[in-house]
Amino acid sequence: MNLLRVNLTKQTICTDEIDDEFSCFIGGRGLATALFADEVKPDVKPLHSDNKLIFTTGALTGSSIPFSARHNVTSISPLTNTIFSSNAGGNFGCELARTGYRAVIIEGRASSPVYLYIGENMGDEPAELRDAAHLWGADVFEATVRLTKECRVHFRNTAVIGIAGEHQVYFANIMTQMHRAFGRGGLGAVMGNKNLKAVVASGGNMIPAGRYTDIDAGLWKKVVDSMTGLKYLGTSSILDVANSNQALPTRNYSATTYKDAGKIDGEALRKHTINVNTCHSCLVACKRVTQSKKYNIITEGPEYETLMALGSNLCVNSLDDIIKSNYLCNKYGLDTISTGAAVAGLIEASEKNRTKYKIAWGDYDGVHKLIEMIAKREGIGAELAEGAAAFAQKHDVPYYTVKGLDFPGHDCRGLAGQGLSYAVSNRGADHLYSMEYMEEYGSPERTIITGKAKRVVYNENRNAVLDSMALCKFSVRFYTMDDYLKILSKITGSMEEKDMQMLGASIVEMERRFNCKRGFDKKDDVLPKIMKPSGFEEELKSYYRLRGWAKNGCPE
Ligand code: SF4
Repeated sequence: MNLLRVNLTKQTICTDEIDDEFSCFIGGRGLATALFADEVKPDVKPLHSDNKLIFTTGALTGSSIPFSARHNVTSISPLTNTIFSSNAGGNFGCELARTGYRAVIIEGRASSPVYLYIGENMGDEPAELRDAAHLWGADVFEATVRLTKECRVHFRNTAVIGIAGEHQVYFANIMTQMHRAFGRGGLGAVMGNKNLKAVVASGGNMIPAGRYTDIDAGLWKKVVDSMTGLKYLGTSSILDVANSNQALPTRNYSATTYKDAGKIDGEALRKHTINVNTCHSCLVACKRVTQSKKYNIITEGPEYETLMALGSNLCVNSLDDIIKSNYLCNKYGLDTISTGAAVAGLIEASEKNRTKYKIAWGDYDGVHKLIEMIAKREGIGAELAEGAAAFAQKHDVPYYTVKGLDFPGHDCRGLAGQGLSYAVSNRGADHLYSMEYMEEYGSPERTIITGKAKRVVYNENRNAVLDSMALCKFSVRFYTMDDYLKILSKITGSMEEKDMQMLGASIVEMERRFNCKRGFDKKDDVLPKIMKPSGFEEELKSYYRLRGWAKNGCPE
């Protein structure tokens, strides 16, 4: 496996082979975590030139296996201060895989804005750093269009930061092909801190097609034959389910049901949907292309999480206005969940007269204005740009985070096992770390935490391996464990379920060790008081016991 190393300070680029001790982690999150933990000192600050960004593709990225589009970035997050892996769908990962590099390590800081071009016809050079002064200040859409013309590539070849990344907003995304995101955790701010505006990947290597032909037809058939809400309505299909399970955060997380849920749910969004979109090798096509005639906007999204964060959690009940918020977040390169959480904190502070800035629940014009102010760090936006927790602490209002990461839309007051998962996740309140919520929706035991630690451990381990293979985690709705083992065996040789679990556990533990060296421990595996289910402490102990970690939550 090949590695590309780019030093922005020295303006040097070189290639290397990835050692076996790292390649056993397959690719994606596993490989990036192993490389990162080996190369970066645990006391490095997130927005410092010693922090690195490691882009990785998975073992399957760009292959014929359904759901094999994912690709990964790992760094230290300015929002959580933890090691943070973020993965995206779409097609950029396939283009990166076609350059022949499994990992791209970016270190140092450029003295002026640059972008990295990895492509063909480079002579002896594997890649090139190019001046990006003319792109600095451009939003995501504008920068992407300019790069496609300048490099003669498709927009699927681009990963860029917007104005939020340039201003090092703690929850700035890296955006690929305009509307897809390496989201949560603010890795766009790390890229901005490095003066790196974009990565363009344009390789000519074909992904070998033959390797999976004996199994992929059966997998494709499964996807074609199954009917799920995800196919019919995309992720917005979950909004009504969350609402009826008391798991839809509303009004700065003060409630878990929303009276106007029917105005912003999947069926309502269908009226704004003009097309569907998908990722490489996926027939589910869960992405919705939507239109707001009120604002004359066409965009991709909003996903369920955005409907929650910029809808119910702000008491905005009009899809036109949420679509515009979604569009603006993509344009500036902002994470929609954390943007919504920060604005929710400000509205609560305004309501309680704890800030001079005035904005009311449901004030969508005010929300649109704030999104731009956050991205540009203007006025009150500069405070919100440091995250909901920092803002709320300053203004004495409640906030809802784990390790600094804002809660997504599967509230643990309705889904208690998901609460344990949020608390222990190595990257904070992240619904995708175990996806315990999928097991709990509709279950009569969904508000009981006792006995759930074992399943959380199992699903965390499974997901760590899926993130390393580069499989979209929505595949769990279609594939069985046998399917995963068949795919894995093609990559690693024969593998049983217990081997897959051990591999996943070793990835989770690498992340945990790194965080513990940064000072994280049991005190950080906590939930906000109003979200903490009864029996939480006992189940946390069980979780540590099952992981073989000490009572302080760290591996011995
Ligand atoms: S299910 Fe959705 S996110 Fe996952 S690969 Fe398919 S289109 Fe992409």
